[in-house]
Amino acid sequence: MKAHDGMYIDGAWRPAAGPDVIEVVNPADERVIGTVPAGTAEDVDAAVRAARAALPGWSATPPAERAARLAALRDALAAREEEIAETVTAELGAPPAFARTVHAGLPIAVAGSYADLAATYAFEEKVGNSTVYHEPVGVVGAITPWNYPLHQIVAKAAPALAAGCTVVLKPAEDTPLTARLFAGAVDEAGLPAGVFNLVTGLGPVAGQALAEHPDVDLVSFTGSTAVGKRIGAIAGGAVKRVALELGGKSANVILPSADLARAVNVGVANVMSNSGQTCSAWTRMLVHRDQYEEAVALAATAAAKYGERIGPVVNAKQRARVRGYIEKGVAEGARLVSGGPESPCERGYFVSPTVLADVTPGMAVAQEEIFGPVLTVLRYDDEEDALRIANGTVYGLAGAVWAGDEAEAVAFARRMDTGQVDINGGRFNPLAPFGGYKQSGVGRELGAHGLTEYLQTKSLQF
Ligand code: NAD
Repeated sequence: MKAHDGMYIDGAWRPAAGPDVIEVVNPADERVIGTVPAGTAEDVDAAVRAARAALPGWSATPPAERAARLAALRDALAAREEEIAETVTAELGAPPAFARTVHAGLPIAVAGSYADLAATYAFEEKVGNSTVYHEPVGVVGAITPWNYPLHQIVAKAAPALAAGCTVVLKPAEDTPLTARLFAGAVDEAGLPAGVFNLVTGLGPVAGQALAEHPDVDLVSFTGSTAVGKRIGAIAGGAVKRVALELGGKSANVILPSADLARAVNVGVANVMSNSGQTCSAWTRMLVHRDQYEEAVALAATAAAKYGERIGPVVNAKQRARVRGYIEKGVAEGARLVSGGPESPCERGYFVSPTVLADVTPGMAVAQEEIFGPVLTVLRYDDEEDALRIANGTVYGLAGAVWAGDEAEAVAFARRMDTGQVDINGGRFNPLAPFGGYKQSGVGRELGAHGLTEYLQTKSLQF
């Protein structure tokens, strides 16, 4: 158990304004592994002031120099790769191999992508008799969740810094230790004081103070739809920019011509990865009625194999929520074919990999984000029915389509109301825009599209 002191504000670790702390718990064994300060509105204000003071200098720094600092940040993160992976395992419960490749490896690559983009992006363009400048929006308030602790931070901080914005980060209360490692890397990378600031704290206290702060120009939030709606309302009321990455209930559509076994196995792996705590997870598998029972049997077998391989969910509240949904699904008439609500271990917030069959589109488990290792399998009559079901939720973050012929899958994907679709198991692309249609959010992260979120335009006419 280690008591971590201080917040990273204005280029130094400073004592928090108040005495309160947040306990960080290892979800695999329920032990308290450390504490961090619970920041207040006073800490947030100090951080925003530092970010505001640093803005003129950083926004005027040539893009090539910003790129060099971001490359140094990527290198500082890479030097901490092992420590990052171990920390994510300790505070989130991610299995070590997954922590290394995804939780540490992916954000290092994303940081590198923004070092490249800062160096190459056209921050100035000609439109007829005008010169259009793409200028930084200003001070960014970033509020991040715990599910991919470092990735969610880097996906906001790296493009904001590349754009010339300065940043105040309020990370999730469950995973603040990874955020502290990120601040350490920023410090080592030699970014000027105040360009990046970290305030740990509770959402309704520090998070809310950041979203409401009048000197924040853009709020970028990733997390639940409920909190996202509040942040959107606050930002709208103050006429400030807002980016929201919210929930999902993505459809994995398996068309009759697809390789069924492959589509089902990859689909199950997609849901069980990170213990189901992925906003873009394909949590609804849609199968033609003629292939339905075969798919359910394949899914049950595949899910059973994950029994000992997946980590716990993040905390007791999340475990209760996931179990509650499994029970609700069964009460609504779903058929449990793998897993179930009972705890597979005495200690730790584990949930068995669960597959619910005979799920119909109106059930809560087919409409609401569960955020745990729970797959629902729905049957469809024909392609039009599949499309109706796929598009029949308030969400639209991601999805997948499988077909024997790629063109057939693409034609279906083009009709889906969703921000990303993987064709026949297409690989994750860290440069492709990521973000939601409908209530999955506003704005895009990653790549050049992620950079433009943090830019505003000024045109000079000649
Ligand atoms: P949350 O929305 O409560 O937390 C996300 C972030 O927002 C955290 O940093 C939190 O401290 C902060 N926050 C909370 N209340 C706030 C407020 N009033 N003002 C400002 N900031 C605030 O999410 P959670 O409780 O950690 O998870 C609940 C559910 O959200 C999950 O079960 C899942 O469905 C969803 N979720 C989605 C994502 C995603 O990537 N889209 C990530 C995590 C959780």
